[in-house]
Amino acid sequence: MSDRKFFNEEMETLPKDKLKTMQLERLKAIVERAYSQNQFYRDLYDEAGVKPSDIRALEDIQKLPFLEKKTVRAAYPYGMAFKKPGDKDGPVEVHATSGTTGKSVPVFATKKDIDYWADLNARELWMTGMRPGDILMNCYGYGMATGGFGFHYGAMAMDAMAIPMGSDARQYDRMIDFIVDFGVTSMCMTPSVGLYVGGKARERGVDFKDTKLKFGLFGAEPWPWETRMKLEELFNITAYDEFGMTEFLGPGMTCECETRDGMHAWADAFLVECINPDTGEWMPEGKDGELVWTWLTADGTAMIRYRSRDLSRVWWEDRCACGRTHPKIAAIKGRSDDAVSIRGLIVFPSQVEAALVKFPETGANFRIIVDRKNDLDTFDLKVEVKDASILSDSARNAAVSREMAEAVKTITGNSPKVELVAADSLPRASGGESKTASARVEDRRKK
Ligand SMILES: [Zn+2]
Repeated sequence: MSDRKFFNEEMETLPKDKLKTMQLERLKAIVERAYSQNQFYRDLYDEAGVKPSDIRALEDIQKLPFLEKKTVRAAYPYGMAFKKPGDKDGPVEVHATSGTTGKSVPVFATKKDIDYWADLNARELWMTGMRPGDILMNCYGYGMATGGFGFHYGAMAMDAMAIPMGSDARQYDRMIDFIVDFGVTSMCMTPSVGLYVGGKARERGVDFKDTKLKFGLFGAEPWPWETRMKLEELFNITAYDEFGMTEFLGPGMTCECETRDGMHAWADAFLVECINPDTGEWMPEGKDGELVWTWLTADGTAMIRYRSRDLSRVWWEDRCACGRTHPKIAAIKGRSDDAVSIRGLIVFPSQVEAALVKFPETGANFRIIVDRKNDLDTFDLKVEVKDASILSDSARNAAVSREMAEAVKTITGNSPKVELVAADSLPRASGGESKTASARVEDRRKK
């Protein structure tokens, strides 16, 4: 077994100031290239009145307009491409988002992209404990989505053996067999598949303590710490979180190191910003906001300032305890479509729900009403109560309202003005949408 600590030591441990200098050079080059070679970007930047020469510092990225999913979709199929099939050194592989809510977003990869992709994924596999000669069972889909191919190329680049299992449910029993029979040392899959297969193995009486399995990488959906504990117990492994997006050939964007305190985001390849989803302005370092990504090393497809709608936070230590120098993002918390910014803090309806669920007095329904008075945000919270008698008992009403406000403040940082209301008096969206933001939040500032 190799005792090297890093797969790509020079890049993974490059001092932060050097990484920033590299990011600026690469940002300038990619914006220049997008403007000069791609009509979509030329039109976008002309309309915004911004030129590549306006980018003189990393902060200047804020002058560039965001890419929204809908604008990127409108450029389908080749609008975002730097190179098309048939061009010199053109794309050799294409992947695409699922397109379940509209047109797919395609990403065209040249040989240069594939090589970089393999390197980034090998860094992540190495970082989570894999070494040459190990066996990776890859239970992500091998298809238009990127999970399967990304880790596959990574395993090949680090001389490990990949089992291209894929994510098909008909393979679940075979996953368990292969871990035992082949001596699989590491695996990657979604946490929900992990829980299912781990439970199935237990039913079959398989004890992974008797196998060579040591590590698991889990991603593609948000998962709480409790799920991690469960996966570690079921498989007798150390479990790591990783996150990537198909639009950027993720995986190979972010992954946890041994500290498991945030995921390193590879700064040589990606520039990640964290913005207030309402204003588009940068959040202070370490504060919750929406992640915006720029692909600095892209060769086949241009992705500059793409809004992910994913909520997390970003911070950048000089050097992590693991020795790496790349910034970190926290585990993905949710989608910004469901969040509202109040007095500069992001509030999720799910957080309010978590605070209220402890109170026996409440039903399931509440409504957040945000407004602005004298330039200050107001935060009113209407909460349905099961028992109408509380509404006429002013002492009890006041006490419960105050306790609820405190509970919400503890979780969100914002103290609401609570008003208790009768059951079934608040609007309720139909069917499965009853918990969506639109039913939970009324933002009067937007009118
Ligand atoms: Zn680290």
